[in-house]
Amino acid sequence: MLSKIFKSFTKNKPSAPKDVATNTNINHKESKRNVTSLRIGEIGEYKINIQLDQLPKECMYLNDILISNKFSKSGYSQIDHVVVTPYAIFIIETKNYSGTIYGHRNRVKWSVNGKFPMMNPFNQNYGHIEAVKSVLANWDKIKYVSLVSFNKRCTFKVNEELRKIQSNDLIVYDTELSEFITRKINVLKLQQPEPILSKNDIQDIYNKLNIANISDLQIRDMHVDKVKNLSNLETTNNEKDVPTCITCGKKVSEKVREYCISNKKRFKGNIYCYEHQKASSTKN
Ligand SMILES: [Zn+2]
Repeated sequence: MLSKIFKSFTKNKPSAPKDVATNTNINHKESKRNVTSLRIGEIGEYKINIQLDQLPKECMYLNDILISNKFSKSGYSQIDHVVVTPYAIFIIETKNYSGTIYGHRNRVKWSVNGKFPMMNPFNQNYGHIEAVKSVLANWDKIKYVSLVSFNKRCTFKVNEELRKIQSNDLIVYDTELSEFITRKINVLKLQQPEPILSKNDIQDIYNKLNIANISDLQIRDMHVDKVKNLSNLETTNNEKDVPTCITCGKKVSEKVREYCISNKKRFKGNIYCYEHQKASSTKN
């Protein structure tokens, strides 16, 4: 039991799957970091691990993985949690704000209490999903669900689709994480009773992500610095009102912006990058 609690506290190591013998690829560097990195913010992580431990036993999950991503400005994506289930892979982004969260899936900028700006977390998590997809390119039928988790000190003022279990973009409280994942699995099961991933697939995917995970502390610290610098840059860019895609948050040219705005029927006044212009016309 004690060892289980410790395991839940360890941040940098993918948690052991419950139906498989405990993985032993912890190196010394990592375990040292695990001890030194117990900070207040990680109590939130701990709560999430308790949630993820309640999932059906065929599910496996990894925490805090850093994988290279050629589309990301920093060159990497850092993903809080990845849950691999027979019906879908859940990519979870956790946020530690407190206050009222104002946002809409289609808006690039969200805010806390109407005062503090935050980037649309679903755009951010979209990039994470792309990064995981590129690692798992061998599995082409995987469905991905984007979950953004906030703590109970937040109130959501977001479009209601983000709370509807049919959506593949869901905003949740950390305390309802396992409930939402279980409900979503049930919905997917109804749509397609045959699991997409077998027990072996799940194990292979877990291993593949584990191998792709960069544990080198220097690279990890470099990534954190780069992201900080980039987000400073982003604030300046946003002040200049650079047009961005509402699905992925990528910058688009003035020409693309004009094209989207002038096709009001097709894009409903929203701006999409080339890739998501296609997706937007197949949606509803
Ligand atoms: Zn886009």
